[in-house]
Amino acid sequence: MKICSLSILILSIFVAPLASAQESAAEKAAVSELPSLLAIYKDIHCHPELSGHEQRTAALVAKELRAAGCEVTENFGKYDDPKLKCYGVVGVMKNGSGPTVLVRTDMDALPVHEETGLPYASTVTTKNDEGRDVSVMHACGHDAHMAAFIGTARVLQRLKPDWNGTVIFVGQPAEEAIGGARAMLKAGLYNRFGKPDFALGFHDKADLQTGHIGVTPGYTYANVDSVDLTVRGIGGHGAYPHKTKDPIVLSAEIINALQTIASRENNPIDPIVVTVGSIHGGTKHNIIPDDVKMQLTVRTYKSEVRDRVLADIEQIAKGCATAAGFPADRMPIIEVGKDNLPATYNNPDLTKRLVGVWKKVLGDGNVEIVDPTMGGEDFAEYSLPDHSIPAVDFHIGAVDPEKIAQFKKEGKELPSLHSSKFAPVPEPTIRVGIVGMTSAVLDLMKR
Ligand SMILES: [Zn+2]
Ligand SMILES: [Zn+2]
Repeated sequence: MKICSLSILILSIFVAPLASAQESAAEKAAVSELPSLLAIYKDIHCHPELSGHEQRTAALVAKELRAAGCEVTENFGKYDDPKLKCYGVVGVMKNGSGPTVLVRTDMDALPVHEETGLPYASTVTTKNDEGRDVSVMHACGHDAHMAAFIGTARVLQRLKPDWNGTVIFVGQPAEEAIGGARAMLKAGLYNRFGKPDFALGFHDKADLQTGHIGVTPGYTYANVDSVDLTVRGIGGHGAYPHKTKDPIVLSAEIINALQTIASRENNPIDPIVVTVGSIHGGTKHNIIPDDVKMQLTVRTYKSEVRDRVLADIEQIAKGCATAAGFPADRMPIIEVGKDNLPATYNNPDLTKRLVGVWKKVLGDGNVEIVDPTMGGEDFAEYSLPDHSIPAVDFHIGAVDPEKIAQFKKEGKELPSLHSSKFAPVPEPTIRVGIVGMTSAVLDLMKR
């Protein structure tokens, strides 16, 4: 008896409604689903799967969507590489005529060795696509997204009298590897299940306090381009540089000159990043190599800025080579990767509408307008290249406010997403995810 009353006490503290929030039907339903969702969360957390290998995870998501009343299609999606199987899950919940809203979760984990010390920490190891042994961890919180996504399906099923229309639940693989969203759209997601009127996604945030939702109107994540830059020279003996064209010295010039794209070429109110993340050239002290290979990541928001920055990289690389007297047939080669990720644009009107909804259900002080980042997210794909489908990807606070205060006091950085030490606080992160997503959908589809 004692144990029982103690556990009721613990549970009631555990799932106490959010401070200053007006308790909504969505929240009540979310609270009653929580114990089972926390169990699902922990199960997914200790069984993480790498991008493109989400077989068990996708089967679990499909089973739960089916149990929540969705018509479910599994293994949906088509990667460019026909050898790869796509584990996309689509769950359609129909409730009469009305708008169609897409709700997306990502499903993949990362090659990170978990060091959170949690009792349900992952101990999974596997071989990555290159055949190397790696540990696997949900270091980006996609496990919390899935639990909140399943919770959203359950709550919307329970609240069917309150809404009209169709919800398309998308369990997306390979977010981290970029390509999961594209694989599902290329396989005809919208032709087969209907083009949504709105698309919604969420992501936990490693520096936002639990109980809070954060959102950025307009651009929230950047265009991501990978650029391979091969600087070609004429190699020879390190003791006779005058008989060579040294690609190492030229590479150094190019790297410095690339910094002027952000500082001199770009309008300062358009954020951009040009990072040289890798440079390899040469084999030995006394040999001037024939070439140097660099790998760059380029981050921008607007597509016209993207085009200009990519053109600037080419102009600078070739300009430096010309100035150094390199022959025309040894000009640098610039290759822009085909796996470009478009910028995620939160439709400003829809964002404003949802901020109003969240303030009502969570309380004014629990909804924050947060700064955009130069990170990337393939959620962007769902709004289509012209942003013609209004979309919002919002943040869910995942860190205990006391921990944030303590780290701030000690002048330390909190573990970021992808850190071996990052894990969201499951409750209330998952509950707030459900309340945030469900209240958004209910507002867009209300009767
Ligand atoms: Zn991530
Ligand atoms: Zn993520």
